[in-house]
Amino acid sequence: MIMALLIMAAKLVHKVLDGFYWIVAREGMLPDSNIFLVKDGDHFVLFDAGIQHFFKDTVAAIEELGLKLKQMDRLILTHTHLDHSGSTPEFKGRLKDLEVWVSEEEGVLLEKGDDTIVLGSMLGQTLPPIPVAKKLHDGDVIKVGAYSFQVLLTPGHSAGSLCFFEPQHKLLISGDVVFRHGSFGRVDFPTGSGMLLKRSIERLAELPVDMLLPGHMGIAMKDGQREISLSLQFARQVL
Ligand SMILES: [Zn+2]
Repeated sequence: MIMALLIMAAKLVHKVLDGFYWIVAREGMLPDSNIFLVKDGDHFVLFDAGIQHFFKDTVAAIEELGLKLKQMDRLILTHTHLDHSGSTPEFKGRLKDLEVWVSEEEGVLLEKGDDTIVLGSMLGQTLPPIPVAKKLHDGDVIKVGAYSFQVLLTPGHSAGSLCFFEPQHKLLISGDVVFRHGSFGRVDFPTGSGMLLKRSIERLAELPVDMLLPGHMGIAMKDGQREISLSLQFARQVL
């Protein structure tokens, strides 16, 4: 009899701050996104869901932190592109009280099952209509445990792209608006706009950011503002 060795393929997880973790995107043949897990008392919140294909790996990563999936009570999406939202139906299917929070602009489409921004049909998984518990607006404040995030509507990569700025810890969850090393989100998908992205990055460049936590590639633990300034410089050249 052949014994099959099953290797748990959890994603890599790094601690960012106390009660704040980075579940690293499994980028490769399939698109996936970074996920940020923030503890909130006995519960926890995820910023972005990652792609459905890696849902089990995401759950394994959560369990590696000593948490149970049932402790998750909120899923907050930076935007609804499939690489960030694809696992949402899996989470919702297992957690009937899970609240999904997303921008007003993209929430109304998510609730209708409108694929315009999700790009599901392009990436091979269409999302069913998903109820949105809270539609977020610029200026909203989200409390999660010891952290208090300011919601910034930063369109350009998609119409309802959000960034979350935590002023006390000088930390920015930047979705696909800006990445490290002067990189920024593409603007050629539906509802994208180079002009709006430039304006959004200009706004982010004003913030006193130390830690930059983007939706793809690595995070910066310091000098986030310098990374954003570099992105702005390149965006001004090409957009
Ligand atoms: Zn995106």
